[in-house]
Amino acid sequence: MRELRGAGVFGGVVIGPVYFYAPGRCTVSEEKTEDPAGEVTRFEIARGRAQAQLKALYEQALAQAGEESAAIFDIHQLMLDDQDYIDSVHGLITRGRDNAARAVQKTGARFARTFAEMDDEYMKARSADVLDVSQRVIDILCGAEGETPGLSVPSIIVAEDLTPSQSMQFERDKVLAFATAKGSSCSHTAILARTKGVPAVVGLGRALTPDLHGKTAVLDGENGTLTVDPDEKTLAAAQKRLQKQQKDHAALQALKGTPDRTKDGRTVKLYANVGNLEELQDALEQDAAGVGLFRTEFLYLQAADYPTEEEQLAIYRRAAEMCGDRKIIFRTLDIGADKTAPYFDLPAEENPAMGLRAIRLCLSRPGLFQTQLRALLRASAYGNVSVMFPMISSAREVEKALEQLETAKESLRKEGLAFDEKLETGIMVETPAAALIAEELAGLVDFFSVGTNDLAQYACALDRQNQTIQQFSDPHHPAVLRLIDMAARAAHAKGKWIGICGELGADTELTETFLKMGIDELSVSAPKVLPLRGKIQSLDLSR
Ligand code: PEP
Ligand code: MG
Repeated sequence: MRELRGAGVFGGVVIGPVYFYAPGRCTVSEEKTEDPAGEVTRFEIARGRAQAQLKALYEQALAQAGEESAAIFDIHQLMLDDQDYIDSVHGLITRGRDNAARAVQKTGARFARTFAEMDDEYMKARSADVLDVSQRVIDILCGAEGETPGLSVPSIIVAEDLTPSQSMQFERDKVLAFATAKGSSCSHTAILARTKGVPAVVGLGRALTPDLHGKTAVLDGENGTLTVDPDEKTLAAAQKRLQKQQKDHAALQALKGTPDRTKDGRTVKLYANVGNLEELQDALEQDAAGVGLFRTEFLYLQAADYPTEEEQLAIYRRAAEMCGDRKIIFRTLDIGADKTAPYFDLPAEENPAMGLRAIRLCLSRPGLFQTQLRALLRASAYGNVSVMFPMISSAREVEKALEQLETAKESLRKEGLAFDEKLETGIMVETPAAALIAEELAGLVDFFSVGTNDLAQYACALDRQNQTIQQFSDPHHPAVLRLIDMAARAAHAKGKWIGICGELGADTELTETFLKMGIDELSVSAPKVLPLRGKIQSLDLSR
């Protein structure tokens, strides 16, 4: 028995055979060419073929895993259309006399280095993409196009690393789990595993060798372990957990359609947090009663340029329609700090978490804000839409944001475009300042939603991104709980409702505390909806 340790990316235990995936790749020759024009043509043909493959992969990913997963193949196509990339390959062939495969290899490596040196984590991750897409062209040039590995039985896919194209080629029902030597929780394996709901462990290191192929293993996506050739005791323990997992899952499914009501009859709005339409679909499948937080910035983060009003409307409208009568709260753009896209061209800041982000950015760029507000308002004609503003720290900001909303409404009225005149507006309470002046703010809007992730970071001066200081973090810090209580009292004093959409809202150890504070709504990620429903139903607040 051998236990390998890595980082768990997506929870759950699986038992099954290892499929060691080692795609055969051709060796690129360094031989110079005598026929540069012919090599340029060969490159162009291979590039066209790679584009066709990527288009097919995009369609496949779209059908199997949704738009977010598929988007990566769109990015790959864009990379192959990039003029700098093409010029570099052509130049190496015509001026340097490199053969086509060598020119692509050199170009891919150069672009990958440039991406890797960027500060932005998202751009850094594109380094692997440019290598992946270059390798695809090289494989075509060498006649070694990858074959789809045929899996006869559901297996744990083990690999050095998995590119998006590689992960996508496995049939979903043949994949028990993913385990890779490299990778981090931001890696493609991680992203795809989460969207596909497949347990995964990354960063297992050099111990992942081809001799593991065919061996039985236990993968624990929660603890981040892969145990090869498990002894009877380990196997029995894993089987027990597997059975419990299946039983828990079945018990949770039975809660679908049941009310979010405590034993003593207090009803809570149990909503979900989502970032795109696929997550919204998951939330609805988990029977969430609405959407308490739609993080619209993800739309911007995935785009290569500012999404237009029509592009945004298409997504918001679809989301509103999917929710039907259920409420859907769209949070306006919360960009800045850890969430940036290059086209925003944000200034470098000493303290970006306290810098030009969220509502501050929107108020500083009214054009950007108007585009989004108009799209959100127009979507409100198709469902039960509310709008909420992030990172509020003063009444002036709320007034300014509402003025902008009014301007957007006025422009739509002039153009005869429909929207919900009774659309509710709310703010995130995620700065201590907002909690402290909650009474004043409650007079300006219809509801509050507490963002405990940021509220805790600002109240305790503890950077939420910094892993190394997490030992100093107390998720149940009394300061944070008191600020939430203050906001709840202030909201209710003005007859407004209050919810929690930060991670703490899903913490079942605090559900009773929150309900006793009078919290009216809890908005959590889709997999947490049913466990939280179970908790709510078990409580008797009269005791
Ligand atoms: C929060 O801060 O708690 C929140 C819900 O917003 P985000 O995590 O997107 O900053
Ligand atoms: Mg926040």
